[in-house]
Amino acid sequence: MKILTMKFGGTSVADIDRIRAVRDIISDEVKDGWNVVAVVSAMSKETNKLIDLAKQAGVESLVDPEYDSLISTGEDVSSSLLAIALNSIEISARSWRGWQLPVRTDSFHSNSKIEEIETIKLINSFKEGLKVGVVSGFQGIERAGRITTLGRGGSDTSAVAIAAAINAVRCDIYTDVSGIYTTDPRIKRNASKLKKISFEEMLEMASLGANVLQTRAVELAMRHKVPITVLNSFSKEEGTLVCDEEEIMEKNIVSGIAFQKNESQLTLTNVEDKPGVAAKIFGPLASSGVNIDMIVQSNTETGLTNITFSCPVDDLDVAKKAISKAKEDNQISYERLIDNKNLAKVSIVGIGMKTHAGVAQKMFETLSEENININVISTSEIKLSVLIERKYLELAVRSLHDAFGLQNL
Ligand code: ADP
Ligand code: ASP
Ligand code: MG
Repeated sequence: MKILTMKFGGTSVADIDRIRAVRDIISDEVKDGWNVVAVVSAMSKETNKLIDLAKQAGVESLVDPEYDSLISTGEDVSSSLLAIALNSIEISARSWRGWQLPVRTDSFHSNSKIEEIETIKLINSFKEGLKVGVVSGFQGIERAGRITTLGRGGSDTSAVAIAAAINAVRCDIYTDVSGIYTTDPRIKRNASKLKKISFEEMLEMASLGANVLQTRAVELAMRHKVPITVLNSFSKEEGTLVCDEEEIMEKNIVSGIAFQKNESQLTLTNVEDKPGVAAKIFGPLASSGVNIDMIVQSNTETGLTNITFSCPVDDLDVAKKAISKAKEDNQISYERLIDNKNLAKVSIVGIGMKTHAGVAQKMFETLSEENININVISTSEIKLSVLIERKYLELAVRSLHDAFGLQNL
């Protein structure tokens, strides 16, 4: 049995016309002899509407099971509509909710992790002649039987996890752009489409803000060696293959630029410079669920130090509360707590950076020519990130894109 997993995002199933277009894309694959597992997102903007309704109704916590039970329903509408559309052209299809397969997850509501997926019902149905199993993405069920969701953009992860569990030959992710570009094509019109990108680079790009694929989906694909192709449901074009580094002949020094728009930083001044202080600061932040990103410590000669860290703007208030409480409880001491909410992070990513020197210098020179000040820097083997003022974000992305010649890849 030849099984193919296909995922269609929100804009690809935004209305009945779009659902018919998706139906036809699937129908072509069925005609080529494939059994298809089609994973769908909610129709465009539906999840946002549901989140807004939950807030209006007074939801207090995102880890509330009722919140997941509500925000997962968008996917139920699109999966049933797609199954109806397929059946209407004599392609046998049926829909499954996440809990019906089931997709088993942990119970961390609103950001659950998949633990196991049962595929037996899909396989048996294919054996009995079903051509397309349509699965609501984004959803799972936890041990106590409550519905869970996989975090924003989680249908990508549903699709890759099902592809791995069912041993699908490939996983095609259909979206509203024609593949992975050197940067978000909505910011830089002449961004180049990459033919291939390594799992490693895509993982960095996704975690650094390129939300074309959910980070966890890339992690799973890398672990289970599921080749992902990112394609456009609006136009028939060759997409981008996300694959092992060995399959890429021409390795770019820099393959892409990713960015996160809403970053903030917090500085604690005149912290005592002695062993254990960092643990006392970052412990309470971790327990409060704050997503710490970059950290800088600058020592002075007086035995005191300044510690700066960055986190998403949405986490800043929680971070400030956790730090102030640690001071009140005499766990830490500092003079001032200074925040800056107007930051953004820009990152350049490329496997070629492992072997080429001078990339950092070129990045810093380019930003300095545009008079863009760098607040914090962080690096890994294949990426370099800087925190800058948000108002310079687009300028930084565009000038770095030009400086590294990414329009000509
Ligand atoms: P879907 O609803 O299909 O899951 P998303 O909105 O989650 O779609 O992801 C697609 C979007 O990702 C594109 O519209 C594009 O603006 C954005 N994006 C960000 N970075 C990139 C990139 N490097 N290449 C392609 N798209 C990108
Ligand atoms: N509908 C969910 C969201 O908007 C999941 C997804 O689209 O992948 O985040
Ligand atoms: Mg998405």
